[in-house]
Amino acid sequence: QMASFMDNRYQKMCYNRCGHSGLLLPAIALGAHETYGSYRDEVAARACLYRAFDLGITHFDLANNYGRPPGTAEQLVGKILKSMPRDELIISSKAGYHMWEGPYGEWLSKKSLVASLDQSLRRLGLDYVDIFYAHRPDSQTPLEETMAALDLIVRQGKALYIGVSNFSGTQLEQAVQVGQRMHLSPLTIHQQRYNMFERRCELDLFGHTELNGIGVIAFSPLSKGVLSSKYLGASLPEDSRAANVWGKKNLDEVTSKAKLDKVQQLNLLAQQRGQTLAQMAIAWSLHHPAVSSVLTGASRIEQIEENVAALNNLAFTPKN
Ligand code: NDP
Repeated sequence: QMASFMDNRYQKMCYNRCGHSGLLLPAIALGAHETYGSYRDEVAARACLYRAFDLGITHFDLANNYGRPPGTAEQLVGKILKSMPRDELIISSKAGYHMWEGPYGEWLSKKSLVASLDQSLRRLGLDYVDIFYAHRPDSQTPLEETMAALDLIVRQGKALYIGVSNFSGTQLEQAVQVGQRMHLSPLTIHQQRYNMFERRCELDLFGHTELNGIGVIAFSPLSKGVLSSKYLGASLPEDSRAANVWGKKNLDEVTSKAKLDKVQQLNLLAQQRGQTLAQMAIAWSLHHPAVSSVLTGASRIEQIEENVAALNNLAFTPKN
């Protein structure tokens, strides 16, 4: 049965064109990595997806391996999507990271991509995903095979658009050239980590996406939550991702004095702008002209509300 959603759900969000394609993406999208089907249960996930949609977030991002055990996120989100209007949503999934045992359970062979997407569609309970990604580059599989497999998936109607994630600028350029040479469906989107702490792609990647009319969706705009005020207090918040799923290496990095000093300074800057640090971080990632959409995570609806309100101040001046 369909849940009921707000009539004004499209009024606040802005929708940006993804590269030179016909696809419009919400400026802010929501992903399930590490949260839904992991340290956040069905009740929390359902509340977040419904609230996000009410705020105009039409794009939910998944991958074969999200959740614990891998696949749980797709199962859970699939269950929730049954009560949401499919034609108003952009659902994505990916394959490339380890998913099942044996030689076909990871990387980018035709065998792995086709089998993995079929599994994802079953878990999601969908006939097609809107976007399907090669999740990471694979130096062993010929790019011709990967690109042809993505094209096949589009021709079979199992995905409407295709993209790559975590490819370098050079790898992306090679993929585009292979696609053009073989007359394959074009790459529409590149999913790349991009936030105030991780800016390499500005130099390495964005020139190539812009040149080829490929949109960028920037993930981890909050650096998994670090670019907020939540880790500035004396103790680690109990319900945070850091306290729940991070190993020592990640934790040490986040709680290092050098890192927290930077976060503290950014927090002050955000206050001067009249927004929270999380909001400034989202506005910042969205600010680059190569970026079509910013892919956030959220463990509760208040975070989604706060994050969408970042749209109230997206402008930056030389000072702040
Ligand atoms: P973010 O950097 O947005 O981090 C999200 C986390 O930050 C939340 O789970 C929450 O953590 C915290 N948070 C969110 N909003 C606020 C707020 N307003 N105030 C304080 N804390 C907040 O993104 P993610 O790293 O989660 O990545 C987002 C999505 O990007 C993923 O779900 C996935 O779809 C995609 N992704 C893709 C990858 C790829 O290789 N292609 C890799 C990683 C992510 P808490 O639970 O602690 O409250």
